[in-house]
Amino acid sequence: MRDEAMPEAVARRSATRRADIPPIRTLQVVLKVAERCNINCSYCYYFNMGETSALDRPALINLETVGALARWIRDGCAELGIERVSISFHGGEPLLLKPARFSAACALLRETIGPVADVSFAVQTNGTIISKAWLDLFKTHRVHVGVSIDGDRTANDRFRLGKDGGSTFKKVEDTIRRLVDWSGGDQALGPSTISVLDHRNDYGAVYRYLRSLGIINMSFLLPDRSHDHGFGAHEGDAEAYGRCLSDLFTAWFVEDDPDVNVRQIKEVVSHFRNTGTPVADPPAANDMIAYQIIVAQSDGTVSVNDSLIPALDWFKGTPRIAIADRSMPDFLANQVFGDIRRAGDSIATACRSCDWRGLCRSGDLENRYAAANGFDNPSVYCAGYKTYYETVCGTLLANNYPAELLEERLSRTLDTVAA
Ligand code: SF4
Repeated sequence: MRDEAMPEAVARRSATRRADIPPIRTLQVVLKVAERCNINCSYCYYFNMGETSALDRPALINLETVGALARWIRDGCAELGIERVSISFHGGEPLLLKPARFSAACALLRETIGPVADVSFAVQTNGTIISKAWLDLFKTHRVHVGVSIDGDRTANDRFRLGKDGGSTFKKVEDTIRRLVDWSGGDQALGPSTISVLDHRNDYGAVYRYLRSLGIINMSFLLPDRSHDHGFGAHEGDAEAYGRCLSDLFTAWFVEDDPDVNVRQIKEVVSHFRNTGTPVADPPAANDMIAYQIIVAQSDGTVSVNDSLIPALDWFKGTPRIAIADRSMPDFLANQVFGDIRRAGDSIATACRSCDWRGLCRSGDLENRYAAANGFDNPSVYCAGYKTYYETVCGTLLANNYPAELLEERLSRTLDTVAA
């Protein structure tokens, strides 16, 4: 902890509250600076999937709220000894905030939290409204830029359309080309991409398209889905998504450029590498939380990680508190955070005999949910994961990766999951 001027009252409180909260290495704050969007993606969980509370909050955050949030984070980090804070500007579309207010928010957050913890910034944008003013401020404040694009025109325009139903593709493509030039290869600035998978797309082609734009860091998300909202008539099935991931892997493997980082590939392949620790970010010490995610809204309230929204019945019962009413340690002591940690650290009962459980860990939490029995289920994408892992291991073996080493690495992953 670096704030030697930490108020005595804060220090006193820490003695009683730390027992409730494991040590946290990085606090990730998903900051909803704009709670509306200028486009209308049909799969958007905020506006088209049943969680519409954003519409009850201010469209744009004001600087008073940013200042109050910054102090709330600073005091909480000082009390809990958190030394890294990652602020991700999200929306809606965060660039609806306008450059001047966004820049002032960055300055305020860094100035307030900086004496206590290292602060980093990222923004996730739909890439339709970036101007030179934005690029200048991203460089000034060292904001990493992530762009949402689902792939080539066909892939992108399935879901990511304007409010008039028109294509957003050309604007987004132009933005990415511009960002690649602007960053000059500085991957700390980006751009990185996030794409939502759809079973109808060719992921070899999508991968090659994103690489043709100069993207080095990319991530692909499985569509939001829980056991309560399974696969509709035209939504493919789990195996189809396994083929999407497999095609991505094959395209990445064929290109054979070690600098290209696809999150969903790296997470698996890192287990089979011959060097170092099996994951890029070193594992947190026992009982330490590597990333504690919270979401901050434009009205000065905070809540749990909103990527869990597909577990909708459960999510609607999670706390949303005003930062004026509760300190950060009080908020993080809420039992919901322990519930999320325990669910995430455990695998589903039905996965306990699965050979892939060390790699898969039952998949992402939101895809395990059913209103009937909570998170104690294999992922709705279970069959797809199996297809994907078989492709990865089969490809490694076919390319002279020693079978004994593969076995040894796979069994090593089993040691990391609870029995
Ligand atoms: S979700 Fe499926 S692949 Fe993953 S651990 Fe469970 S049974 Fe295995």
